[in-house]
Amino acid sequence: MRSTSHGGDLVSATGLALDDLPLGPWAGAETPFWASRTGKVWHGDPDCHALRSRAQEETYIQPASGTMADRVFPNPLHCSPPGPLGDHHRSAQALLDFDARTREAAVRLAEQHVDISAYSHLRTGLTERADDRGGDLSRHWERCQEERRTLVSRLEGELAGRLPVMLAAAWVLSGKTPRQHQDRYATFLDVAEEECDARNITSWLGARGYANQNFLPSWLSAVAAGQEASRVSEKLATEEVERSRTFSRDTSDDFYEQIREAWRLIGEAWARMLEGLVLAHQGEALAIFHEHHGGLPWGVHDLLQAVFPGARLRTTEFSWLCARVPAIFRLFLREREPGLAGLILAEEHVHMYGPDMCALFLRNLVVDLDRSELAAHVRQDGGSPSGDRSESSSLPSGLHGRLQGFGTGLGDRGLTVDQMLPALRAAREGQALRPRRQARKRTRG
Ligand SMILES: [Zn+2]
Repeated sequence: MRSTSHGGDLVSATGLALDDLPLGPWAGAETPFWASRTGKVWHGDPDCHALRSRAQEETYIQPASGTMADRVFPNPLHCSPPGPLGDHHRSAQALLDFDARTREAAVRLAEQHVDISAYSHLRTGLTERADDRGGDLSRHWERCQEERRTLVSRLEGELAGRLPVMLAAAWVLSGKTPRQHQDRYATFLDVAEEECDARNITSWLGARGYANQNFLPSWLSAVAAGQEASRVSEKLATEEVERSRTFSRDTSDDFYEQIREAWRLIGEAWARMLEGLVLAHQGEALAIFHEHHGGLPWGVHDLLQAVFPGARLRTTEFSWLCARVPAIFRLFLREREPGLAGLILAEEHVHMYGPDMCALFLRNLVVDLDRSELAAHVRQDGGSPSGDRSESSSLPSGLHGRLQGFGTGLGDRGLTVDQMLPALRAAREGQALRPRRQARKRTRG
């Protein structure tokens, strides 16, 4: 057994090793191995593409009891025997990898070193059933998946707390390209320019150009990915010093300290600016938006779905998500591509909108819009699908009229908040709207 000295109480301190895993089908098996006439490398699979001929053959008798560490085989071994033995070996190897990744992430979380990509990677493998993966190892898979689940939910809690800042950073970063809020991005460059000018730090791009090319986009994307702002600033400041050293060897140490200090202070100022944005958009809101909205860092959708489960209406032509979101998310909804990216439906008593109420609202909405056949395509996060499971591809294509996205009603097309309020009001009261042609009256659902 290997053991790790830290990782807190997140997962047990000792990692899995081969000597923890049962032999399974290997117990007592007679396993032949092959090598070519002059070959030094052995193969368990007689049909291995790397095996030129089976000139040498040796059969090993596996122990009747013991663990995977007790298997006997020639060395070096290229591949496992085919069939159940190979499957068991691969499952054992995958289990050790799975366990090692959980443990590594636990150590990083204990050091507060987390981000959204770690989170997304850790979630993989959790949806598979242990007995599908493991056979004789399913008991071990279950335990490892349980530990992984504990870790993922801790990580989720940690990242959920950072989510408003992450969203603020992603939004500012999206202003690097011409958009309505390019001014906001520019104010971040102003800060860098002033600090560098004050210290006579420059580059051939100018301090502003340099910050725009390298420093600010890296800083914002790291913060948007869930990394801690102060940690990101320290790391980038250190990299800047290293970079300067490679360009000018005979400059004094004091100059490098100036560079480090400048970028550290710039990072601090940027972090305060993001905090300001977050403070201006406190709390949560209920939103409806195009699910695959650009501008969000990879993995943030997963996090949003886990922390704020809602419901989606998915058709061949669009996928709308209705869910609670951090209030700062509204910044993204103002984007127009081509209509509005989404709308804020409510800002008061938002906690009451769980996934079931979001789903009821979406079903009510399509009924209210005379498209009640779409109600079967509403799916609730974490719940069983509502309606039938008919495929979206069976939907009539070319949806027209009012189902073309979102708008303010001021000169642009698409649904407005006003048009959605009756469906929302009914959902809040637990009422399911009925198709008009059948009945105009609302009935309790
Ligand atoms: Zn082989």
